[in-house]
Amino acid sequence: MTETSMTETSLPAVDRPQPKPWIAAIHPYVPGKSTGTDGKVLIKLSANENPLGTSPLAEAARHVAGDQARYPDPDSVALRTALGALHAIAPDRIVMGTGSDELLNLAAQAFAGPGDEVLYVRYGFSVYDIAARRCGAAPVVAPDRDYGTDVDALLAAVTPATRVVFLANPNNPTGSYIGRDAVARLHAGLRSDILLVIDQAYAEYVAPGDDDGALDLAARAANVLVTRTFSKIYGLAGERVGWATGDAALIDMLGRIRGPFNLSLSAQATALAAVGDQDFVLRSRDHNARERARFAAAIAALGNHGLRPLPSEANFVLIEFGGALSAEAAYRALMDHGYITRWLPGQGLPQCLRITIGTAEQMDHIAGVLARLAGEAA
Ligand SMILES: *Cc1c(COP(=O)(O)O)cnc(C)c1O
Repeated sequence: MTETSMTETSLPAVDRPQPKPWIAAIHPYVPGKSTGTDGKVLIKLSANENPLGTSPLAEAARHVAGDQARYPDPDSVALRTALGALHAIAPDRIVMGTGSDELLNLAAQAFAGPGDEVLYVRYGFSVYDIAARRCGAAPVVAPDRDYGTDVDALLAAVTPATRVVFLANPNNPTGSYIGRDAVARLHAGLRSDILLVIDQAYAEYVAPGDDDGALDLAARAANVLVTRTFSKIYGLAGERVGWATGDAALIDMLGRIRGPFNLSLSAQATALAAVGDQDFVLRSRDHNARERARFAAAIAALGNHGLRPLPSEANFVLIEFGGALSAEAAYRALMDHGYITRWLPGQGLPQCLRITIGTAEQMDHIAGVLARLAGEAA
C-alpha cells in the first residue's frame, strides 16, 4: 500500500464500515471537566463527586482485593448479599452494573428498539438520550415544569409506541425531586407493558422522611426498575459500580445481557467495604444537607441580581442566571478562581450553572465570588 492510499480520506462512504444511522446520530456523553482551558488543574465541582472522598474501609479494601490474575466473581454474590441485607431485598432481585450507566443502557436495550419510543422529561439525565438512540428507539422528551418533572406532561406524552420511561429522582442536572405520591401517580398512569426506570443515583442524599417509595414500587410492580450507584454518596466513581432492583424477570433479563465479568475485583471489594460503612454515608449526607442549605441561601440572597438557586435534593445546586451576570461569565470567572463547575449549553441550559457541593470553605469562597461578580455586573 502506498503512503497516499493510507492517508486517503476521500474514499466513497460505501468503502468503509457504516454505523447504523441511529448510532451515528448519537452525541457523545460530555463528562465534567477537571482542568481549565489552559490545562490548569482545578478544584472539580463539575461531576457531583463526594468532597469527603470515600470510606476509609473502602480505601483499605482496594489494596487487598485479591488475585488479579483471576477473573472476579461473575455474579458479585458477596456484594449483592450485602446490598440485599441493607435494603431488605432478596439478592436474586439485584443485578450489578459497570456503573448504573450500564444498567440504564441495558434497560433500554432489553425493552425498546427501532420503532419504539423512550420517554423522559426535558432536562433529564443526558444518558437517557444516548440509551434510547443506542438501541434504535426514538427519544421523546416531555415538557418540564419550572425545570422539574411534570407527571401530567410525562403521561400526556405516552403513545402506543412508548416502551420505557426514565425518571431521575432527584434529577441531574436540575436537582428537582418529586415525592412518593407523584411517583405513584406516574406509575399508576402508565400501561403495565411500559417499563418505568427510576434512577435513584442521588437517593441517599434525600432526607429519609422524603423517600419517593421507588424501592417499594420495585418490590411489588412487574414494570418498575430502580437503579442506584456507588459513584455519588459512596465516593467510588472511579470503581464503576451500580446496581438495579425490580421484578425477578426484569433482573433476569438484564443479567443475561450485562457484561459477564462486569464488576472488577477491586470494584467488588471496595463497594462491599463501602456498604459496611454506613457511618460514612450518613456523614456525607449531613455534610451535603448542611452545605447545600447554606450555599442555596447565599445564592438566594443574590436574587436582586437575577440569580436563583433551583430547589435541590441532590449533592449539587443548579443556579439560574437571569440578570446582568451571565452563567457563562460566572463559569469563566470561577475557573480563574480555581474552580471548574458545569455550564450546560449543550443540555439546553445556557442560562444555568450546576455546582457540586464541596467543602464549607469552597462553597463560601464560590458564593463570595458570585456575589462580587453579580454586584460588578449590575
Ligand atoms: C451520576 C449519575 C448516575 C451514575 O452513573 P454511574 O454510571 O453509576 O457512575 C446515574 N444517573 C444519574 C442521574 C446521575 O447523575
